[in-house]
Amino acid sequence: MEPAPHRDSTRAGRPVRGRFAPTPNGPLHLGSVIAALASHLSARRRGGEWHVRIDDVDVARAVPGAADAILRELERLALPWDGPVVRQRNNTERYRDALARLERDGWTFRCACTRREAGPGPYPGTCRNAAPRRARSIRMKADTSIAFHDGVQGDVTVDLREETGDFIVYRADRVPAYHLSAAVDDGGLGVTEIVRGSDLLTSTGPQVHVQRALGLAEPACAHVPVATDASGAKLAKSSAAPPSAARPAAEVLRLALAFLGHRPPAGIDEPAGLVDWGVRNFDLARVPRVRAAALAGNPGRETGRGTARAPARS
Ligand SMILES: [Zn+2]
Repeated sequence: MEPAPHRDSTRAGRPVRGRFAPTPNGPLHLGSVIAALASHLSARRRGGEWHVRIDDVDVARAVPGAADAILRELERLALPWDGPVVRQRNNTERYRDALARLERDGWTFRCACTRREAGPGPYPGTCRNAAPRRARSIRMKADTSIAFHDGVQGDVTVDLREETGDFIVYRADRVPAYHLSAAVDDGGLGVTEIVRGSDLLTSTGPQVHVQRALGLAEPACAHVPVATDASGAKLAKSSAAPPSAARPAAEVLRLALAFLGHRPPAGIDEPAGLVDWGVRNFDLARVPRVRAAALAGNPGRETGRGTARAPARS
């Protein structure tokens, strides 16, 4: 299929397609808004599509109402998405099919280790060739190192033997693991680029490993810095980070743009206007090339009009 003429394309001529994939375990906070905005602007800058996927495959962890609250907040922030929202809980058959293919091709083995036996570091390989005990989880063999180019962090190599060892693709509670579900869904949706927080940088290695084993196309990736508070702690839904919905939308967008190295001119007061400015001006090269950075200490002041300073780098 020919891409529409106005669309830039990458990755063997496919139209640009980005995605935002929040876990519905709480409302969006500024840290997740930064990831959403970066992926939105990166895709839209080149005329691409932007999709939203709710990563609710782990039904037990999903907080009732959180997915709807996230979508409402994206709407408030003038970040419209394309197509229907993908819900991972509807895709379990796809994950089982992917698992069957990995099993058929000899990539997997059953692991009987408890969490304690498996230890905190890379999996020691205990069950790989052992006589079967009662299996708990299913692991994927990972005897390789994965090199990729990251649009923000540069060239990255993840040695799976040192980082994860043979990693879990199906958990003891029969929930597909993140590396499997994310790789399958990104492949299924034809995602061409993944822009997200650098806390997920090490996940890219296992995900690429799964994609290669399943013959799925590998999206390009860019990992933007993770926002921290003044003490260096990551802003996360699980921490006390306040929901972004507690602040005016334009203030949230200005904060997120500034964090990403972009300062829209004064006088743009509407969320849609700020996003539109971002779509026209977003450049990954201006995103600070660090893994983490403190979000401006006093967010209230950062929204002052007429700040045309160079982006703070830390
Ligand atoms: Zn084991």
